[in-house]
Amino acid sequence: MIHFSPAELEPAPAAVRAALGLKRGVEPSPRSEELLRRALDLFRGLAAPAAVVKPVTAEEFATVFAGRGGNEPRAPLAGIYPRAGRLHLFAFTLGEPLGAEIGRLFAGDFALGAVLDAVASQAAENAARVAERWSESLPVPGAGDGGPWRCFLYSPGYCGWHVSGQEALFAALRPETIGIRLNASFLMTPLKSVSGVLVAGPAAIHRLEASYPFCARCTSPACQERSLAAPPA
Ligand code: SF4
Repeated sequence: MIHFSPAELEPAPAAVRAALGLKRGVEPSPRSEELLRRALDLFRGLAAPAAVVKPVTAEEFATVFAGRGGNEPRAPLAGIYPRAGRLHLFAFTLGEPLGAEIGRLFAGDFALGAVLDAVASQAAENAARVAERWSESLPVPGAGDGGPWRCFLYSPGYCGWHVSGQEALFAALRPETIGIRLNASFLMTPLKSVSGVLVAGPAAIHRLEASYPFCARCTSPACQERSLAAPPA
């Protein structure tokens, strides 16, 4: 089981400021620092992290990944997961109270709501990183083959894996047991939830060309942030 300590999930103030668009080197105003302090206090009081994780074989994941058949023809994960050494379906939520408070603040105190939303989004990202490190900490079968393993979370809605893939993922993983539900557009409630497949194996399996047709529309180029995007040939 993955353990999520509050200290690991709580985002660094600098990460929240960056998510809110404050440029590095620019002095934050006293008002924005007070909003950040209040948002972090709310986060500490309301976050109720919970996760579900399930090992799957490549054959089992093939059915999940196929979903309703809406994936891009050259979705990178199609070439990555068959070469993985270990696959886990994964879902995580920060819980209903935090999501409800963000919604309440957006209606009455938009500034604080926006900062709390950024804090929660960063915390959910941190949860994905904790899960990745957890997978990497598991024993490597045939250790020494390909060096230390790297694990990354791949999610429906990104990198050519159609968002409708959430349906098959939920059917196999049952995140409803920790309170995560899907709506008709395949979005998760509570909003501050993440889901996908933890793919662990030699680092080379994660290398991407990042020149797929859908990359032009990518708003979160995680492959570049992780230095996994190979330069164009
Ligand atoms: S830029 Fe990278 S993260 Fe974005 S869609 Fe392309 S391969 Fe995926």
